[in-house]
Amino acid sequence: MIDFRTWARRAADWSADHFANIRDKPVRAQVMPGDIARQIPTNPPEHAQDMAAIFDDFEKIIVPGMTHWQHPRFFAYFPANASPPSVVAEFLTASLAAQCMLWQTSPAATELETVTMDWLRQAIGLPEGFCGVIQDSASSATLCAVLTMRERALDWQGNSAGLANHSQLRIYCSAHGHSSIDKAVRIAGIGEDNLVKISSDGPDQAADTGALATAIQNDLDAGLIPAGIIALTGSTSTGASDDISAICDVAERFGLYVHVVAAWAGSAMICPEFRHMFAGAERADSITFNPHKWLGVNFDCSAHLVRSPQDLTRTLAIQPEFLKTGGRDGIIDYSEWSVPLGRRFRALKLWFVLRAYGLEGLRTMIRNHVAWSQELADEINAHENFELTTQPVLSLFSFRYLPANTQDADALNERLLQAINDDGRIYLTQTRHNDQYVIRFQSGQFQATRDDVQFAWKVIQEIARSLES
Ligand SMILES: *Cc1c(COP(=O)(O)O)cnc(C)c1O
Repeated sequence: MIDFRTWARRAADWSADHFANIRDKPVRAQVMPGDIARQIPTNPPEHAQDMAAIFDDFEKIIVPGMTHWQHPRFFAYFPANASPPSVVAEFLTASLAAQCMLWQTSPAATELETVTMDWLRQAIGLPEGFCGVIQDSASSATLCAVLTMRERALDWQGNSAGLANHSQLRIYCSAHGHSSIDKAVRIAGIGEDNLVKISSDGPDQAADTGALATAIQNDLDAGLIPAGIIALTGSTSTGASDDISAICDVAERFGLYVHVVAAWAGSAMICPEFRHMFAGAERADSITFNPHKWLGVNFDCSAHLVRSPQDLTRTLAIQPEFLKTGGRDGIIDYSEWSVPLGRRFRALKLWFVLRAYGLEGLRTMIRNHVAWSQELADEINAHENFELTTQPVLSLFSFRYLPANTQDADALNERLLQAINDDGRIYLTQTRHNDQYVIRFQSGQFQATRDDVQFAWKVIQEIARSLES
């Protein structure tokens, strides 16, 4: 018999200790490929094992093989922050273990999802007229958007007749568009060759909307079928952002669907002073952003706001027309709004977090991350041996180490990054910008403090100096 109460308490204590002591652990797992698997039997257990032994192995084998995304000195990739109320709600969700595909399979889950998504709509300053659904990821939301573009462009015949009897559909996005767009276009049967990537120079790295309009017109002239445009607010790599208003102008001219991806940066739109980045989003057909990145809600929780739930359900619902309610009146069956049928109760953690901190508490967190990052960017910029390679977009910027007489800057920065991550006190990742190897920095961890960000600068300088000797 497993004493659930004992082990649930043990897990709670472990988690609290983990959050309290996490600064002492290396950020990136310091293991080699195979190190973990080697410690686990290759055959499944035939007989019950003691929970104490299982928990022991979790601590001994698994935890050292984890890269700690909740570490306040995690400055790599993007934030995926988990606040304590979110983790508590996730535990309750796991205990309820409901399948939330239909209203009647869990009315509270459905109704809380509708309400909390409307809270988020208001929180990021969008007008009424958008309805929300929680997807597992921004990738899924974008896939849903691309499928909707496809169906709208084919007069809703694609799902039944397939794509064979039409000329090629065309989707447009910036050259900085995320790989999830390529994947969505593949899966939707449109074909990656029909994803047109528009060049994006200039300081914001925004897609050139003149080139966008020309590309669409050329496709029309060639007898192809433009289906939609995907706009970007805050690329993962360097924060590249499109001019959504200008993109919507082009879309209106050609009658095209616009989907906005703001997976990371969208959370910052709860702060009015950052919404200039989002100007025009209110004119889009759909928007996705991830509270599971920067709003303290642990993965998975991707907000997907749509202007026309009817178009979304017409694309994805597989029930007869007479059962559809489109989200305006009566009930919502959220499985008609997403690709999988089964759905987790994701709204609970969002509700806990929004209530436990209030929007004002979350704004303070984001404003701090942005301010600390920008302060660090200024310091790096002022140092003679370093240069900023992209200016801060919210809390994200990139830089290079470039001491006098550097021969091969790419190799030097690669070496620096590796040394920093082998050291383990902080964690950073790289990208390529203007064909150069650059080091990225972002701050967005829930427990991060100004000291943690300043500590990163100390470690970067110390390790850079050690490379010279
Ligand atoms: C993180 C990110 C994604 C992918 O988000 P998932 O929720 O992991 O699918 C897509 N686009 C951008 C711009 C992102 O930052």
